[in-house]
Amino acid sequence: MSSILRIALQKSGRLSEDSYQLFKECGIRFDYGTGKLKSVSSNFPAEFLFLRDDDIPGYVEDGVADLGIVGENVAVESTHQIETVHRLGFSKCRLSLAIPRGTDWNGIQDLNGKSIATSYPRILGNYLSEQQVSAEIHEISGSVEIAPGIGLAEAICDIVSSGSTLLSNGLKEVETIFRSEAILIARPTLEDEKQSLLNKLLFRIKAVQAAKNNKYIVLNAPNNALDQITSLLPGMKSPTVTPLATEGWSSVHSVINENDFWENIEAIRSAGAQGILVIPIEKMIY
Ligand code: ATP
Ligand code: ZN
Repeated sequence: MSSILRIALQKSGRLSEDSYQLFKECGIRFDYGTGKLKSVSSNFPAEFLFLRDDDIPGYVEDGVADLGIVGENVAVESTHQIETVHRLGFSKCRLSLAIPRGTDWNGIQDLNGKSIATSYPRILGNYLSEQQVSAEIHEISGSVEIAPGIGLAEAICDIVSSGSTLLSNGLKEVETIFRSEAILIARPTLEDEKQSLLNKLLFRIKAVQAAKNNKYIVLNAPNNALDQITSLLPGMKSPTVTPLATEGWSSVHSVINENDFWENIEAIRSAGAQGILVIPIEKMIY
């Protein structure tokens, strides 16, 4: 039987939608959201398993799944033997320390001798020892933000995005200890056939990510400004320059990084460029 990649995704939660979208953009089709536990792709040798995110590192280590998508926070906290294969850039969040709003904060040393509630005892423990702070870590699995209010701990360490949960529990964020994004994880050693499927998948993921970070740019330029404008638009190899029907003008086509675009657009315009079109790219292969 030929090989198939088993890929574990979060069934429903903050990683799910972007994970499904990523495979869709990679041209890999499968059914999800039907309540099924797994689904085989109709056009790529992959089977998708829909699980709770916390269980994914364990399933990957055990070989139930070959790959998985989890938050880096979950991967780093877990003790399972897994490898980060690729960073995916979505589901960004931070792990922060928070204390009751009325409490003074002069720095991390304030936590010496205190108790801190968290679902991330390993990440917190490492951070505290790096900072040479000795505090008691109280591990709880959910609703960490209520711990100070019920007298369970004097501080918490939890995932923060907008801070509104902290605010409604009378807490203030005082220190970020870890920044996380979604990552693709794998077993440290995959069989050759699975590794080559993973390489194919990574090729597609990188093409999708590159396309997101770049734009196709088309503009009209007077011929005497071409050198200056093309030097601002190096493109993948070099820009395409073709003459316009109007004498003395050319059309310039190139690819530009989204950040470089905003940095260079004024210079491009003041060099004489007109009729600038910026177009999204669907896939980009170097
Ligand atoms: P499950 O039911 O699968 O166990 P969960 O409740 O543990 O889900 P989610 O809240 O869906 O998990 O979060 C999954 C991951 O998404 C987190 O581990 C983290 O990496 C990331 N994440 C958490 N909160 C946010 C947020 N507010 N914004 C963006 N990403 C987040
Ligand atoms: Zn979870």
